Amino acid sequence: MSETIPWWLAEASPKPLPRRPLDGPPDVEVIGGGVTGCACALALAEGGLRVRLYESRSIAGGASGRNGRFALGGGAMRYDVARETFGRKAAREYWLLTAEYLDRLELLAGDALTRPGSLRLAADEEELEQLRLEHAALREDGFEAEWRSAEALSPELRGGFLGGIFHPHDGSLQPARFVLELAGRAIEAGVEVCEGTRVESLAGLEAEQVVVATDGSGRGLHPGLDEVIWPARGQVLTTEPLPERLFEYPHYARNGFDYWQQVPDGRLVLGGFRDFSIMSELTDVEETTPVIQEALDAFLVELLGEMPGVAYRWAGIFGLTQDMLPLVGRIPGVDGAWVAAGYSGHGNVLGLMCGELVAGAILGRPHSILELFDPGRLIRAAPPVPASGA
Ligand SMILES: Cc1cc2nc3c(=O)[nH]c(=O)nc-3n(C[C@H](O)[C@H](O)[C@H](O)COP(=O)(O)OP(=O)(O)OC[C@H]3O[C@@H](n4cnc5c(N)ncnc54)[C@H](O)[C@@H]3O)c2cc1C
Repeated sequence: MSETIPWWLAEASPKPLPRRPLDGPPDVEVIGGGVTGCACALALAEGGLRVRLYESRSIAGGASGRNGRFALGGGAMRYDVARETFGRKAAREYWLLTAEYLDRLELLAGDALTRPGSLRLAADEEELEQLRLEHAALREDGFEAEWRSAEALSPELRGGFLGGIFHPHDGSLQPARFVLELAGRAIEAGVEVCEGTRVESLAGLEAEQVVVATDGSGRGLHPGLDEVIWPARGQVLTTEPLPERLFEYPHYARNGFDYWQQVPDGRLVLGGFRDFSIMSELTDVEETTPVIQEALDAFLVELLGEMPGVAYRWAGIFGLTQDMLPLVGRIPGVDGAWVAAGYSGHGNVLGLMCGELVAGAILGRPHSILELFDPGRLIRAAPPVPASGA
């Protein structure tokens, strides 16, 4: 595999983190050094437990250092769809919790996060109708969401998009910088962070409790998780800094298949177009491909009227679930094993939230939302092995 370097990690230029051994056996071992694992480990250590975290690469080396930088409230599906599927009460509780976690992210991330809002755009009449339904449902349930008609869009967008929803509280996150800081806090709180250490099997671990926090990149750790968390590849590029500021906040369209934003130094970051080769992008091979990169280039030209210089191109892997809800809680059939993963491409806020939620459950303070995220809804415990001769 030819490793691609994301701009976020290049900009953050991380040094290897110090490994400070625990003063006794670990109470909990956490697998995965992205936002979920770091948030979970920190919360567990603050709760008084001895925690060891394993990361096969370096902290934020996975999706948490490679993503599109959107920090969005809500889940991975539209709000009206969530209401229909899970019921109004559960959907509202879910959305409210993510709104709280956007505020919490702001508190923890400092200047790695800005909150200019985000604009979700409709690329055709069908999507426009879907966004109208979502907007109505959000307003009905008391969420702030502003409708933008086609005429209200900026000139670069008017040709390609028919309108959309502006979400005033959303943000833009330098994800690698945030997660590296989170890992630093975890080390200060006593977590032993082991970079460059791959866990081959849940069975070989020392602690009585283990948390799998590998989102889309943890295949092989547990067959039940392999069945229900599908790895998906996302590809991103960033341009050289543009001379003009064209986009004040993050934009996304075609149900999130295209997303772009201009970051503080003027670069345009663009990702998506997974649907141009949807089957081959269902993979955990972390490399860029010509078909997706050419689609990204063509879209850049549509947006900017000319091809800018491209500084970085990279790929990353995230975890999809069949119902677009994360899995957070005990792994059925494996004593002491927990999971927080499967954010379906929305892990910047959900990873922080679910990392802390799973830690809360381990510390004996389970949040009521965990009923919705119960891994048992998708993973069945393996049938008990019959005693010999039975
Ligand atoms: C291209 C792309 C764009 C995205 N854009 C956005 C976005 O704009 N907004 C948003 O909210 N979300 C986005 N996402 C999703 C988001 O990045 C992820 O959901 C989130 O970062 C998941 O965090 P995590 O900590 O759970 O997993 P990861 O960050 O993937 O971390 C898991 C870690 O586990 C490690 N690991 C795996 N197996 C083992 C093992 N056996 N032993 C030890 N370590 C192991 C991996 O090396 C990895 O570092 C995007 C994802 C991608 C790939």
